Amino acid sequence: MLQVTNFTRLVVFNELPIIDFHVHLSEIETLTANIIELLAGAYPSRGEFFAFCKDYSDPHNYLQLMDQLGVDYAVVLAGSKTMPASMAMNELVENFCRVSPRLIPFCTLNPYRHPHMDKTLVDLCQNHGFKGLKLYPTYNHFYPNDHILYPVYATANRLNIPVSFHTGTSIFANSRIKYGNPLYFDDLAVDFPEMKIIMAHGGRGPWFEEAMTMVRLHKNVYIDISGLPPQKLLQTFPDMGRFADQFLFGTDWPTPIFNLVNRKATVIDVEKSLNTIRNLGISPVAAAKILGENAQQLLGLA
Ligand SMILES: [Zn+2]
Repeated sequence: MLQVTNFTRLVVFNELPIIDFHVHLSEIETLTANIIELLAGAYPSRGEFFAFCKDYSDPHNYLQLMDQLGVDYAVVLAGSKTMPASMAMNELVENFCRVSPRLIPFCTLNPYRHPHMDKTLVDLCQNHGFKGLKLYPTYNHFYPNDHILYPVYATANRLNIPVSFHTGTSIFANSRIKYGNPLYFDDLAVDFPEMKIIMAHGGRGPWFEEAMTMVRLHKNVYIDISGLPPQKLLQTFPDMGRFADQFLFGTDWPTPIFNLVNRKATVIDVEKSLNTIRNLGISPVAAAKILGENAQQLLGLA
């Protein structure tokens, strides 16, 4: 098995790296009927959606797309939301990322399915190349500060890997958003002050202020801006520029942006998102941190 141990093949298209901290697989077999229905709505036809999925199930095609978009690295998240057997999802992500160190795999674990999450995490990181952990409290129905998870947090801390959590709303079936409130990260940040805690979607929907409060209070808590309309970021987080050290660019690619008001899904335009963030009105230094430098540090990239 190919073990990726260094990241020296950094291809920097810009002076500074661009890192997408939130990407998913597009393999059709990882999607449930409900999700196919929602995602296909963003495409002119179901046929085009299936063709898209087939194309980008090949990591080489995705790497080509990254080249076109000017994205240097992508964090590819295993997602148990779409698949009951999250270990199978971990395997798919492992295989996908094996072809290039520019693809950075994050595994997932479900406290109801993995009784020894701490040991499993060690195995996944040491023997399968995973560089981080993604947890889905809203899909797997647990509170992030549940003490049952503390051994796995201690392990992540020891391995020095970031832990990303889905926060806020979701359109997918069976999600319970009460588990997505960022306030629970207060306990984690206090009990694990060294652990790198990432709130994906920044508490999307009802809890942007709560997410921002966590960022203000705790240096080890970050917001990944995926799944949020980039042009509204400064309305959503007016302090984003001041706290630029704790924001991470992410797209949630290939998940479309879903408008809860008109129930319409729109395909994510990564290039447009990047340009919007560059022109938000925050300083170039802050933008560079958000677009890649913070992620570079979190991931320990050269
Ligand atoms: Zn996502």
